[in-house]
Amino acid sequence: MGPLRVLLLEDSDADADRIAHWLERDPVQRYELHRVVVVSEAVSALLTREYDVVLLDLSVPDSDGLATFQAARAAHPSVPIIVQSALQQEAVALGALNQGAQDYLPKRELTAQMLLRSIRYARERSKTDRALRESEERYKLAVEGANDGIWDWDLKTNRLHLSARWKALLGHGPTEVGHTPQDWFALVHPDDLNQFAAAVNHHVDSRTPFLQHEHRMLHADGSWRWCLSRGLAIRDGAGNAYRMAGSMTDISPRKEAEHRLMRLAPYDDLTGLANRALFLSRLSHVIRRTRRNPSYRFAVLFVDLDRFKLVNDSLGHVAGDELLVAVSRRLEEAIRPGDTVARIGGDEFALLLDDVDGPDGAAAAAARIHESLGCPVSLRGQDVFTSASIGIAEGGSIRETPEELLRKADLAMYRAKRQGRARSEEFQAHLHSDVMGEFQLEADLRRALDQDEFVVHYQPIINLKNGSVGGFEALARWNRPVHGLVGPGTFIPFAEAHGLMGELGMRLIERACADAARFEDLTGDDGNLCVSINLSGRQFADEDLVDQIAGAVARSGVDPTRLILELTETALLDKPECAAGMLKRLRALGIRIHLDDFGTGFSSLSYLQRFPIDCLKIDQSFVGGLSDSVEDQAIVRAILGLARSLGMGVVAEGIENAGQLDRLRLMGCQQGQGFYFSRAVDFDAAVGLLGARFPQRSGAVLAQA
Ligand code: C2E
Ligand code: MG
Ligand code: MG
Repeated sequence: MGPLRVLLLEDSDADADRIAHWLERDPVQRYELHRVVVVSEAVSALLTREYDVVLLDLSVPDSDGLATFQAARAAHPSVPIIVQSALQQEAVALGALNQGAQDYLPKRELTAQMLLRSIRYARERSKTDRALRESEERYKLAVEGANDGIWDWDLKTNRLHLSARWKALLGHGPTEVGHTPQDWFALVHPDDLNQFAAAVNHHVDSRTPFLQHEHRMLHADGSWRWCLSRGLAIRDGAGNAYRMAGSMTDISPRKEAEHRLMRLAPYDDLTGLANRALFLSRLSHVIRRTRRNPSYRFAVLFVDLDRFKLVNDSLGHVAGDELLVAVSRRLEEAIRPGDTVARIGGDEFALLLDDVDGPDGAAAAAARIHESLGCPVSLRGQDVFTSASIGIAEGGSIRETPEELLRKADLAMYRAKRQGRARSEEFQAHLHSDVMGEFQLEADLRRALDQDEFVVHYQPIINLKNGSVGGFEALARWNRPVHGLVGPGTFIPFAEAHGLMGELGMRLIERACADAARFEDLTGDDGNLCVSINLSGRQFADEDLVDQIAGAVARSGVDPTRLILELTETALLDKPECAAGMLKRLRALGIRIHLDDFGTGFSSLSYLQRFPIDCLKIDQSFVGGLSDSVEDQAIVRAILGLARSLGMGVVAEGIENAGQLDRLRLMGCQQGQGFYFSRAVDFDAAVGLLGARFPQRSGAVLAQA
């Protein structure tokens, strides 16, 4: 049992010493005493720290009588308060009892025994009070939330009762819809009917403990609504069901948002092709395949339509969209089954050609594409001729990142355009105008590792309920001579491409662990402050990673339960079999896993359930759109719902203004970070943020927290 945290408001040194002495000598309970001498100090202590019990002297220099009690009560409405007062103040003390004080102790007659017993009772009573309050709140929620329709089915007579609410959910009046199960099942979507009927039968046959099924129902307005039907059978002595009753909930909003989230992920809405993220992920797969089989060859084609803008401007956006769809179909026809076509920009497409036979193979594919685009596309009764410029980059180097390879194809495409369009160009090293610059950067990076020029900055992660700092995200910075402080966006992809990420990553992890240990020393046991460390896909692909992290943890002495690793979806999905095992080993060390930039990758339910993930970090692009994009709002709400139903936490990234913060809090988001609170700062400045309270929506919210 930990020490009991006691806040003592007492201006007399003698009285305070006496109480401290008594508490120290309690043989059963340890105490952590925090004494203050004026009520304003007590209030700010109650607002910023947690206490188990408050002992109040009602007469202190800046307040007297009931006002002292009321100030403390307002600062923290649920902590138990024991008031102490002089004899002549008995009436006041009784007033405090009426307003919720747990006990009243007359100062002059006080003994150690009375004090300790009073504290013990106050604790017990406040626990029961809280349990009662919570159960009342739960009940209220349940009643308010009873938006469900009710059904009751007599299996013997086959008569069905549907409540008015049930019918209203589907747009029917109280006397509409019949009284038999057939009337009910007739409204179930034909594609869902078999499964639903099976679920009902399984439960009637006692094969499932209850009925629970999500299916579509026909609304009176002709639309389909997603509904959740739940039910329970009532059985006779022999176990045969004779009646079944349950509820129906309209879950359409949740389903829609989920679908949007899923769809948003890997495919382009207009053309149905893979999007950029999916393309890059497939590309990283094949790059890795070259590692196992060096003779394996593949190619990336970057296809950009010529004069697409002209079509858009002269025939309108709708026609432009039709053209893009038509081109998509032709590109799909021009490739082989294992290849990928993606739309990666307005009129830009990328193709991944698997297993090509040398440069000629890729060139032949490009020729096929030119040919198929040569036939006109009919748009609004008009034949439109189109052509494309194509850049080709061959894969083969295991050191390349997917982004680099795509950039090479892009550079080659650009050259094709300049050479007069409707043609293809292959990437050649000299196209890379800044190759020299890259050599310089590589040399600089290696030197930076030798000279230890990398530092870690910390961005606070705020508990949105009360504005306190719950942790820090460690973010890498390069203190580059002449250039100044450089962000990770410029050097991490480069370090990855040049095989330096393993070493750099471990340096950063070592530093972050050491700093986390220092934070731990500063905050002590009650802080529970966590440090989040980012891992890139490259690092995660390294099989020694877990051992290396365990080593760093041991060397720093940090409590591993204070560490969080942040991974992106793409990093996990590159090698799902190994990823699950590695995550389990990290979790066994006590380290937690957060999924970074959530919503931008695949967002598939199946892997969320398969991997042991503690928390989702909502990507900043969605937070940025919260104020004016209904879509982003729906996505954020869906992510929060998803996390809640999977028992995960949520951190919102990139909060830049009060409007975004307010929305997130209303939606029930628990944690967030962003420039609105603070940018990433160096270790010393981060220490200065400990114990700070970050902006709140209003004072009222603070008092509630
Ligand atoms: P991330 O993990 O998503 O980190 C959040 C990024 O958003 C940080 O950029 C942070 O400075 C920025 N940010 C925070 N609040 C706001 C805001 O309100 N508005 C805007 N516009 N941006 C905000 P930073 O430091 O440039 O880091 C970029 C990425 O580099 C990180 O994205 C992370 O993926 C990677 N990274 C950073 N440090 C490390 C590291 O030590 N190891 C590895 N492997 N990757 C790292
Ligand atoms: Mg991160
Ligand atoms: Mg992020």
